Amino acid sequence: MSGSEGRFPKSLLEFQGRFATEGACAEYLFERRWPEGFVCPGCGGGRAWLLKTKAFTYECADCRRQTSVTAGTIMHASKLPLTMWFWAAFLMATHSNGISALQLQSQLSLGSYRTAWMLAAKLRRAMVNPEREPLSGLVEADETIIPFRTKNDPVVVPAGRSGVGKMLVAGAVEIDDGRPRRARLKVIEGFGKQELHAFVLGAVAPQTRLVTDDWPSYQDVPGVRHNAITLGPMAAHVALPWIHRLFSNLKRWGLGVYHGLRKTNLQHYLDEFVFRFNRRRTRHAAFDTLLGIGARTTPAPYRVLIRKAA
Ligand SMILES: [Zn+2]
Repeated sequence: MSGSEGRFPKSLLEFQGRFATEGACAEYLFERRWPEGFVCPGCGGGRAWLLKTKAFTYECADCRRQTSVTAGTIMHASKLPLTMWFWAAFLMATHSNGISALQLQSQLSLGSYRTAWMLAAKLRRAMVNPEREPLSGLVEADETIIPFRTKNDPVVVPAGRSGVGKMLVAGAVEIDDGRPRRARLKVIEGFGKQELHAFVLGAVAPQTRLVTDDWPSYQDVPGVRHNAITLGPMAAHVALPWIHRLFSNLKRWGLGVYHGLRKTNLQHYLDEFVFRFNRRRTRHAAFDTLLGIGARTTPAPYRVLIRKAA
């Protein structure tokens, strides 16, 4: 756990007090970025002054390069105040179920839905880490079907309604000492061998011990030690408890937060769910990741924390 974890606000009230002003947010960004003091990204120099003409921007005393505390974060060049970004990221990171654009709009008293939607979309995009490490050790994998709604469907979708289709999703959960650690979810086109092999190979490390039901598509994944369990009736949740719990939580989440998932951007919603699941015990890391802080600029122990949590 990083040294700054203990300093991160634990409650809404504490957060409000800590990040009440633009200056307080900028100070946090500065600390995360330059924990040992300012370092010019151009020449490596350590002397700089704060510009009076540009917000939270430092000019290097040696090479004169100007660097904003928001450079490299998703807040850079945004017209929204830093406090708004911080609030939105905090709500997104700490709500165990996440938050829709509509909820964000009302919680932050944003004037337009469009602004809230953009904010939520940008934060959600920050949830995918292309460098995340594959699952390993013992992994449960399975596939499921999720009903989706189209743009014009009502909030409550009656069963069998036209325009409502089904989406196929493959999932995997890493199990450590009988408890779930990290998960992966992916939209797939079918339950055939090609799709499921591609999913497994993209999600798990070589030599993973893969546990699935006896669906033939999981057989002979190269480089994986596979244990197929033949299921009796109603036994899937017993044989593969964690992936089944993940699927049922996903479906409940989709209905509860988004009133049903849409096919457009489904993978993004799956990524959001997985992001929150994988960081359920490291909300502080989730907050920083959402704002785009730390990927390149923080010291190694923090990067290690992120990698473990991803
Ligand atoms: Zn410089």
